[in-house]
Amino acid sequence: MNMDYNPPTRSPARRKSSRRLPTAILMIGLVLSLAFVLFRTSVTQTEARLTSDSPVAAPIDPLADFDAQPPSGQETLSGVIRSGETLSALLGEYLSSHEIHRLSEKSRAVFPLTGLCVGQPYQICLDEGNFESFLYEINRDEQLLIRRNNEKFEITRVPIAYAVEVEVVGGTINSNLFSAVAQIGESPELALALADIFAWDIDFILDIREGDSFRAVVEKRYREGEPAGYGQVLAAEFINQGTAYRAVRFKDGERRADYFDPEGKSLRKAFLKAPLEFTRISSGFTMRRFHPITKSWKAHPAIDYAAPTGTPIMSVGDGTIARIGQTKGNGNFIQVRHNNGYETMYLHMSRFAKGMNQGRRVKQGEIIGYVGATGLATGPHLCFRMTKGGEPVNPHKIKPPSAPAVSRENLAAFKAAAAPLLARLDGGETHQAKLASRP
Ligand SMILES: [Zn+2]
Repeated sequence: MNMDYNPPTRSPARRKSSRRLPTAILMIGLVLSLAFVLFRTSVTQTEARLTSDSPVAAPIDPLADFDAQPPSGQETLSGVIRSGETLSALLGEYLSSHEIHRLSEKSRAVFPLTGLCVGQPYQICLDEGNFESFLYEINRDEQLLIRRNNEKFEITRVPIAYAVEVEVVGGTINSNLFSAVAQIGESPELALALADIFAWDIDFILDIREGDSFRAVVEKRYREGEPAGYGQVLAAEFINQGTAYRAVRFKDGERRADYFDPEGKSLRKAFLKAPLEFTRISSGFTMRRFHPITKSWKAHPAIDYAAPTGTPIMSVGDGTIARIGQTKGNGNFIQVRHNNGYETMYLHMSRFAKGMNQGRRVKQGEIIGYVGATGLATGPHLCFRMTKGGEPVNPHKIKPPSAPAVSRENLAAFKAAAAPLLARLDGGETHQAKLASRP
């Protein structure tokens, strides 16, 4: 039995009927889920060691307690917090107002019960109609567990146990990355993760072509056997117009985990390939809508992105706003000064992002404005220009500086960690081989 997150059913009739479920069905369910858990655990134990910073499956999931076949007289109410629902509303039926007050006082140091969020799941466990425990999901990683022990309340935060499996997924693009990911049964989250990993090498708006393909070694999280989203993408490959880009996730000493190519060079560069926030564009778009406005580079040293009005525009690199304003031709525009003599310009904006003004420092990926058709523009698009030392350069042709490579002292460790992941991308390794080559 999986917990459901529907609002609690408080009618006695419903509760009784669930208790009257034939024992046989419950037993079969129990045996099946036990078998599944055992199977899952055996897979997970080996795989979990490969994961770096995702929570490794803890032995006990408190929810599993609730899902075990209840002794007679025990029942569980499941629901999600509704708008305006307070602790008193949830537990008022089972606890006195004095007890609820005592409970919220005591809970404050662990988790303030005034902070129950709408939409978050909870469970109330009763024994013969008496309050036993309350379980509330704080976030993706933690739950609040309140248990009554005689006349005392025990209040703890418990980590949510996920089983993590490492899988290799791959697909080919027919129309766009989102549909390619959907075609192989994966969720848009994976498309966004891939676009983030390769954002410095591939312009996901203009450069994606039919026949491009990807593979990824990805952590998948499961909770009680149900898919519960992705962990980390451990390694990925994207073949764009015949060129293969590869990325391996690695934590180099004190640096935060990041992606490196198989040689240990950072994928992170001074400039993003595209100035439009792909991840904020609705997943329903087709490439046709984003077809570039083709003009000869000589006549028009810029890259034009046709995109819906309001699409967020990002600064492709860290820098300072050198000019912001409006001209008859450019419409609303921003010019950003970067290091090494580079400047970027973003024209025809419908509006600027809040707080943008001359002299302001902007970060790579920061939203500075929104696509529009101001100035001399036939339709909504972003005209994106780059100069170096005042001369126009093609942003797709330059080789911007990269973030530091894997440090010398950790390079051997990186190569050792990368080899089995890259082998999985190649599709030619076995489970044993992968574990054997783990340093
Ligand atoms: Zn243009």
